[in-house]
Amino acid sequence: MARTGGSAVAVGGGHYSRAMTQEEPGFVCSRCGERHAGLPMGYSTEAPDVWDPRHAEREDSVLSPDQCVIRGEHFFVKGLIEIPVRDTGETFEWGVWVSLSAQNFRRADELWETPGREAEPPYFGWLTTELPLYSPSTLNLRTHVHTREVGRRPYVELEPTDHPLAVEQREGITLARVREIAEAVLHGG
Ligand SMILES: [Zn+2]
Repeated sequence: MARTGGSAVAVGGGHYSRAMTQEEPGFVCSRCGERHAGLPMGYSTEAPDVWDPRHAEREDSVLSPDQCVIRGEHFFVKGLIEIPVRDTGETFEWGVWVSLSAQNFRRADELWETPGREAEPPYFGWLTTELPLYSPSTLNLRTHVHTREVGRRPYVELEPTDHPLAVEQREGITLARVREIAEAVLHGG
């Protein structure tokens, strides 16, 4: 499982940090013709798209690496959209934010450090991260958020629609697509 880490890369309005799984020899970029070091197997956003840095000054708002509350009335958790890479057997992941109901957010928070929490039924959530490369937008796609063992980010399962991101999650992608994503992130969409 890839862990989020590494340098932050700005994409559109959001900041993505790269999840590097292993030393990669790099790849020759079809956009700029240069060789880029390493091929990230995932990207992660630091906040829901609706987060504004000014919220940090408010008592009723908070942003941590895994949870976010805005004005005491909007609740988000960070999770992973995992996509199998068919030709290598690896997993590509988007670290995204999903909004939960107040009730489910409180429940998740209560169970945050509780062993066995992965027995929770999935929570409904709206995707609140706009990912590059997908059309129509990934904002407000319907998801189910699956709690995993303590210390692991939840698994975000997209509703099985014909949205390209949902199709990719169901059917997997190729390493060529991972490279295409890297090029888009490096060169701003
Ligand atoms: Zn390039």
